[in-house]
Amino acid sequence: MTSTDSSTTRTALVTGGSRGIGAATALRLARDGADVALTYVRDEDGARAVVKEIQSYGRRGIALRADSADPDAAPAAVHRTAEEFGRLDVLVNNAGIGVLGPIGTLTPADVDRVLAVNVRAVFLVCRAAAGLMESGGRIISIGTALSRYAGGTGSTLYAMSKAALAGLTKPLARELGPRGITVNLVQPGPVDTDLNPADGPMAAGQLAATALDRFGTADEVASLIAYLAGAEAAFITGTEVTVDGGHAA
Ligand code: NDP
Repeated sequence: MTSTDSSTTRTALVTGGSRGIGAATALRLARDGADVALTYVRDEDGARAVVKEIQSYGRRGIALRADSADPDAAPAAVHRTAEEFGRLDVLVNNAGIGVLGPIGTLTPADVDRVLAVNVRAVFLVCRAAAGLMESGGRIISIGTALSRYAGGTGSTLYAMSKAALAGLTKPLARELGPRGITVNLVQPGPVDTDLNPADGPMAAGQLAATALDRFGTADEVASLIAYLAGAEAAFITGTEVTVDGGHAA
């Protein structure tokens, strides 16, 4: 990642950075030269391991336990990152959960939990970051290709929650554009992680729907996020970028 000012190290916060796409993103941003904070809830060992690897690249790394379901904890992580690193340049809204199943099996509690983590937290974290970021800032949210192309059954709640991120991205890009801050949405297709294992029960249908006939890797999503976070993507804002192996082709 290229700094807008060579005397200043870029800093980033990745929500949900202990595993999967978030961990790959935190490590990629650190390899590109950023100091990186990450949040997690349960996987403390994973979070520690990611921080250790960030530090092995000569960058500062911190892990913050912050449950995105808690409306205070998630934005507090933004402020803590800025306090620790002195600034916040890149926010990656990655933490997300999926509760899948036929609509009749999904409870009001499921709806509340998924919307709290996948939607409310993203809004509140963006709100906190918008108050801190300077010109050159980057906000990148992780949606899902499923919000555009259903693929199979069972994803009503998850896809509905992720579709809200498109509704946030464009107006926020308009609002923050005059300050030189970009806001974009990355829409991944099937990616081999704990959330969606390539050998899991849902894998066969996803493979059949994917032009490249394979799941993506977390690193392949992280490389797109790193591009959007960098100086070369300065003219890209308010848009959705799909990385799905042709899932929607
Ligand atoms: P994983 O389940 O592998 O990892 C999820 C990460 O988010 C973990 O670090 C986890 O922390 C963290 N997390 C979960 N819940 C919370 C919470 N309430 N507060 C803070 N952190 C939390 O998921 P993926 O890497 O697969 O997914 C990352 C993002 O990409 C998600 O938003 C997902 O919806 C999206 N996505 C994934 C796809 C896929 O096929 N894998 C496809 C399209 C989109 P902890 O370890 O502490 O639990």
